[in-house]
Order: sequence, then C-alpha cells, then structure tokens
Amino acid sequence: MSYQIDSYPFQGKRALIRVDFNVPFNEEFQVTDDTRIRAALKTIQKVVHDGGRVILMSHLGRPKGGPEAKYSMRHVLSKLSELLGKPVAFVEDCIGEKVKAAVDAMQNGDVMLLENLRFYKEEEGGDEFFAGQLAENGDVYINDAFGTAHRAHASTAVIARFFPTDKLFGYLMEDEVQSIDRVLNSTAKPVTAIIGGSKVSSKITILENLLNRVDNIIIGGGMAYTFFKALGGTVGNSLVEDDKLELAKELLDKAKQKGVQIFLPEDSVIADAFSNDAQTTTSESRGIPSGWMGLDIGKQSIARFEEVILNSKVILWNGPMGVFEMSNFSHGTIAVANTLASATKSGAFTLVGGGDSVAAINQFGLADQVSYVSTGGGAMLEALEGIDLPGIAAIKN
Ligand code: AMP
Repeated sequence: MSYQIDSYPFQGKRALIRVDFNVPFNEEFQVTDDTRIRAALKTIQKVVHDGGRVILMSHLGRPKGGPEAKYSMRHVLSKLSELLGKPVAFVEDCIGEKVKAAVDAMQNGDVMLLENLRFYKEEEGGDEFFAGQLAENGDVYINDAFGTAHRAHASTAVIARFFPTDKLFGYLMEDEVQSIDRVLNSTAKPVTAIIGGSKVSSKITILENLLNRVDNIIIGGGMAYTFFKALGGTVGNSLVEDDKLELAKELLDKAKQKGVQIFLPEDSVIADAFSNDAQTTTSESRGIPSGWMGLDIGKQSIARFEEVILNSKVILWNGPMGVFEMSNFSHGTIAVANTLASATKSGAFTLVGGGDSVAAINQFGLADQVSYVSTGGGAMLEALEGIDLPGIAAIKN
C-alpha cells in the first residue's frame, strides 16, 4: 500500500470515497439506524479538514439494475448532513457529464453524494469500463465500505486499478483490517475464539481456518450438539445436523493434531419446548433426555469458559451461546459478553464480529467495553474463513 489516510495530502484533491450507506428506513424514508453513516464520518471529516473535496458513492438496497425512486441515495442526504454538521450536495447520477460538471464546481472542503451505484448493473458486475467512469470523479480513491469488502464490485475493488498509487483505506476499513489481523496473526498468546450460533455448517470453514490461527476454540450455541452427538452422546431434541457428524469428528481430530484445545459446553440449560415459557432444567450436554433440547450453556460451562477467556490475550467472539433472544436462555451469552468486557479491562484485545454476537453485545449495552465491534457481517465472516477480501486486496496490492 502506498499511502495511509493519516499522511495523504488531501489539500485541493478530489477524494472519491466508497462508503456503505446501505441503511434501513421507515415508511417516511427516515433513517432508522444511522450506525453505518456514523462509521464513515471520521474519514469524511479528515478529508474536509485537510481541504480536500469529498465525493461519496454507495449502494442502497437491491435495485434491479436501473433507477428506482425508493432506493435513491437522496433519502440519506438529510441524515448525513445533520451528522456531518454541514450541507451535502447531491447529484442524480454517479457517472457522466452531470456528475463531472457538479464535481468541477466543488470548492475545497465541500461534500457531495452521488446517486446509488446499483442503478447500474455494471456495479455488481464488476465492469471495468464503468469503474473507469467512476474513477474520473476522483484524484484519490478511498475505500471505507467494510460491509461490502467481500464483493468484487466496480466501486469496491475494480476501481482501484485506476489509482495505482493514490488508493487507501478509510479509518473504518483500517480499524476492521487491523482488528482481524490482530486476531488471525497474533503474536500475543493465548488466542481464543468463541464460536456459537445455530449451525456447524455455516461455521465450518471458519473453524477450519481458526485451527491454524488460535490456541483455544470455545464452541457454544446450537452447533455444540452436533459435536456431542458425533462423540456418541444423546442430545434429545436439540438442534443437530446429522449430515455433519463426520465433519464434526474430523474437526475435533484435526484440533488434537494441531494442539488446539476445544472447549465444549459440558452442561446445558434444557427445555421441553422451544419457548421462553417452557419448563427448564440443567443437564449434561452429552446426555439430554428425549423430549428435551439444549437452549443455553449451563453454569459449569459458563465458569469453565470464563476461566479460558480470562486467561487469553486475544479473544474473538462470533455467535451466541444459546437462544439469547429468549431471556431464559440468554444467560450464557450475557456471561460471555460480560467476561469479554472484563478481559478487555485487564488488557486483552477483544473482537466481536459477525451477525448475532454483534446484536447481542449491543443488546446488553457492552459494545463500548470490548476492543472492537465489527460493522461487517458477511465481510467479517469471510475474513475469518481466511478469504482474501477483494475490497481489501485491491488496496493492498
Ligand atoms: P447463527 O445465525 O448461525 O450465528 O445463529 C444464531 C442463532 O442461533 C440465534 O438466533 C440463536 O437463537 C440460535 N441459537 C443459539 N443457540 C441455540 C440452540 N442451543 N438451539 C437453537 N438455536 C440456537
């Protein structure tokens, strides 16, 4: 990488920034969650402060390759302007003469938002000609859209070719990339990954990659029962993927060969129905009676997991320990979140990434007590699988 955002000379330059403003709206087109806009502010403010001109491009929703009023980036404008504390201009296109004229008229410190990139099917198609047309709007390209870093689209990856040296990560991307790196390439040890959620099948590639990267893997959530069944246990009506038993066994064998310690939840909170009102009791996870299902990790497991987490220098958390959406089965997930906060206080690096664990840590109000909460669901999962994300590779190479 040639440049970093902190040292790039933005004065008088047109900075073309790919952001992820794919935000949710209510029926009046008011933004109902502005997290993604806030996440991009630091990068925008940096360029404005340094006297550059900011040209923002993003996708919104899933238009079918042509303009659709409901997916116009125009709906983001007032929120963006409010959060930035300055007016933001808008152009009804993202390429062409209209855009060129508007960009030419910009003053240093101005901010402009272009129309939805996905109004052109060439965006998702990764079309090089289209990427070149976008590139005409900037002297420097900044990618700050981690949420789409796993897509090889025109504006997220292909465009970087037109900026052989003047391409860089925005602050959000820098933080995300560094956090992943701190976990997957950590020199501080031990490194522990806590992997939960419903299915082994959706996490298998992550688990396999982590076997080469971490010292301990804690497995919780519904996926644990496939492992217990693979080990010869009885798991009642718990979630099990019968076609993944062999895979689960192989994974445990590989872990042993590689010297990675796997921690399964030895006890479970079990219920006689998938409901918060179900009868509950505690059982050994490898001997759950028929008619019952494991919906959370038990107290012994919590204590054991806490011990492992608090002994770790670097911790990754992906996926809940139980059905945390139901209060009676949220204790394991809450305990893990609290332990992560304690570990962070004691100096460990803690990364929460990918889908439901992010929702959980936000729900428990602990997001600011861990080192980093990733903003990218799919992108984070693919990074943990060991895939070179196109949006990251395009800047680095
Ligand atoms: P995933 O999308 O694979 O990360 O899984 C997240 C979902 O797994 C959440 O909605 C949880 O409620 C669910 N989950 C976690 N533990 C269990 C369990 N023991 N049984 C059934 N579902 C679970």
